[in-house]
Amino acid sequence: MRAETPAVYILLGPPGAGKGTQARMLEQDFGLVQLSTGDLLRAAVASGTPAGLAAKAVMAAGGLVSDEIVLQILRDRMAAPDLRAGVILDGFPRTAGQAEALDALLAARGQAVTAAICLAVDDEAMIDRVAGRHTCAGCGEGYHDTHKQPAKAGVCDQCGGTAFTRRADDTAGTARARLKAYHAQTAPLIAHYRKMGVLETVDAMGSITSIARALGTIVGRVSA
Ligand code: AMP
Repeated sequence: MRAETPAVYILLGPPGAGKGTQARMLEQDFGLVQLSTGDLLRAAVASGTPAGLAAKAVMAAGGLVSDEIVLQILRDRMAAPDLRAGVILDGFPRTAGQAEALDALLAARGQAVTAAICLAVDDEAMIDRVAGRHTCAGCGEGYHDTHKQPAKAGVCDQCGGTAFTRRADDTAGTARARLKAYHAQTAPLIAHYRKMGVLETVDAMGSITSIARALGTIVGRVSA
């Protein structure tokens, strides 16, 4: 591990690729902190901050929130003191402007992107994954109507909770808009990270555990 500089991992991939699920597993296995701009924006919407009010309609339509708002939210979060072991950026950067701002932000802190890991998936399967997913309201564990059900129906495997939530934007229609935004604005970042020499690609159509194993191998290798 680059001894003093915290590692910065980026998970790239369309909605439904498994970025959130895998980021949470990497948190547990490597002591990294998941930093999801989607989660931060949903919290801003829920608490009615000016950024949340500005982001709400864009998120509901499956578009991208402005770089200005996202960068402000990210900078605030990156300033918190709990990120010393390193971060996994989940859903950020999503535009060329965000990638450049991240490079500058990290450079100012004496850091750099450790690895940008692209979760390679099949587009059509993503619509089904997104439209069926839900989370435990108690602990945030993710489930899917057909691909990942709790062992006991209606009861969370992790915390025993019985209330589940679905994101308002996890519908087939919005998923298509989000996929389109991904291809138009985020997929070009793959070339940016390839050029920087930090791009890693994982076949993310397999099981959650096999993808986690592949990611763990990458993190183990680049942090050695
Ligand atoms: P996610 O939870 O990553 O799927 O993000 C949910 C929604 O939040 C997206 O469809 C966007 O509207 C918005 N969002 C999250 N992260 C970003 C970002 N880095 N840039 C712009 N919009 C974002």
